[in-house]
Amino acid sequence: MPAAVETASALPLTVLNDEEKMFQANIRRFARERIGPHVRAMDEAGVFRKDLLQEMFELGLMGIEIPEEFGGQGGNFFQSVLAVEALAAVDPSAAVIVDVQNTIANNILIRWGNDDQKRRYYPKLARDTVAAFGLSEAGSGSDAFAMATRATRKGDHFSITGRKLWITNAAEAGVYFLFANANPEAGHRGITCFIVERNFSGFQVGKKEDKLGIRASSTCELILDECQVPVENVLGEVGKGYKIAIETLNEGRIAIGSQMTGLAQGALDHAVAYAKQRQQFGKPIADFQGVQFELAEMATDIEAARLLVYNGARLRDAGMPFVTEAAMAKYFASQVGENVASRAVEIFGGVGFTKDYPVEKLYRDAKIGRIYEGTSNMQKMTIAKQLLG
Ligand SMILES: Cc1cc2nc3c(=O)[nH]c(=O)nc-3n(C[C@H](O)[C@H](O)[C@H](O)COP(=O)(O)OP(=O)(O)OC[C@H]3O[C@@H](n4cnc5c(N)ncnc54)[C@H](O)[C@@H]3O)c2cc1C
Repeated sequence: MPAAVETASALPLTVLNDEEKMFQANIRRFARERIGPHVRAMDEAGVFRKDLLQEMFELGLMGIEIPEEFGGQGGNFFQSVLAVEALAAVDPSAAVIVDVQNTIANNILIRWGNDDQKRRYYPKLARDTVAAFGLSEAGSGSDAFAMATRATRKGDHFSITGRKLWITNAAEAGVYFLFANANPEAGHRGITCFIVERNFSGFQVGKKEDKLGIRASSTCELILDECQVPVENVLGEVGKGYKIAIETLNEGRIAIGSQMTGLAQGALDHAVAYAKQRQQFGKPIADFQGVQFELAEMATDIEAARLLVYNGARLRDAGMPFVTEAAMAKYFASQVGENVASRAVEIFGGVGFTKDYPVEKLYRDAKIGRIYEGTSNMQKMTIAKQLLG
């Protein structure tokens, strides 16, 4: 077949197959009808409703890539990205709960867990157990591998002592994929990933942060005081934690790009609807070219962000190199999220600045995109490293 014909038969990035379309439509409906009415109250309370969390499990949203034989959906990474995007348009907090569960926690177990660990944890994670990822500490954020948490082997278990900070899903979680250094003399090569259950002795969930945005998503400290973790709960191998963390975050950040793309789409949809009904100077503000151009620029930025995100996810599912593309997707989409949400507030005028309209919350929620799963500077470092070798 001539190359041109071959190229022409490839599906454009944003064209979904029937299964993906149905999956996306179901999540959009769930987000709009079930989550939508509670978004403002959950933001104010700083708590995500338990009944909605349970519904997310029942819909299969918490085990998208877990194999069907263990109660999951047997889906792929791209579907996780679609789910995060659709949820974020309504509530970026719901999106990050699903994001961490699927693209970080479940993903880490799928890639690095042994058969026994998968048999023990897959069914829980697909059915009713929220999971969290504990890497950051007070003294180690961007420089994550400078962590102070230590693990010492004592017979058939490890004793872990230290504190983790900023852990998403920590308040609701039952399982934590947590990093500690088991051999500090070896530097980052001592870092090890452990599967820690909430009821393990010496483990405690600490203070919950009071945040600017994504307030319904919990972010807490984890306190480990000689926490006893059985040897069989080492994920991968002792000393492989740095590799596990890097590779997991490389993938996870595509979904943060997706969260920011969905958030921006939600803000644009609100802005378009408002511009059509708000009248000034005797006509809808959507009739003014100044407003139309704003909307056009916002839509173009979102399309570009979505293309980067979908390309990163599809590269990852195809088993092709994707690390630079993932960093670009997260870096760009988080800029777009912040910028589009800010412009949406302006299109609403004064009411956009109040809590009576949804764009104020999306604007606050957007800020985190440039911070977690590697700040924008860290993404730029990854991109530059690839350019400069
Ligand atoms: C709401 C929320 C949820 C989070 N969820 C999780 C989670 O679930 N699990 C988890 O492990 N962590 C989580 N984090 C932590 C998050 O990943 C870190 O906050 C982030 O990596 C930045 O680290 P830091 O806060 O220590 O900032 P720092 O690393 O102190 O960075 C401060 C500033 O310095 C810049 N900087 C640092 N080093 C360099 C450099 N070499 N070159 C240029 N600029 C640099 C940064 O870009 C940033 O602007 C979460 C954080 C928040 C706020």
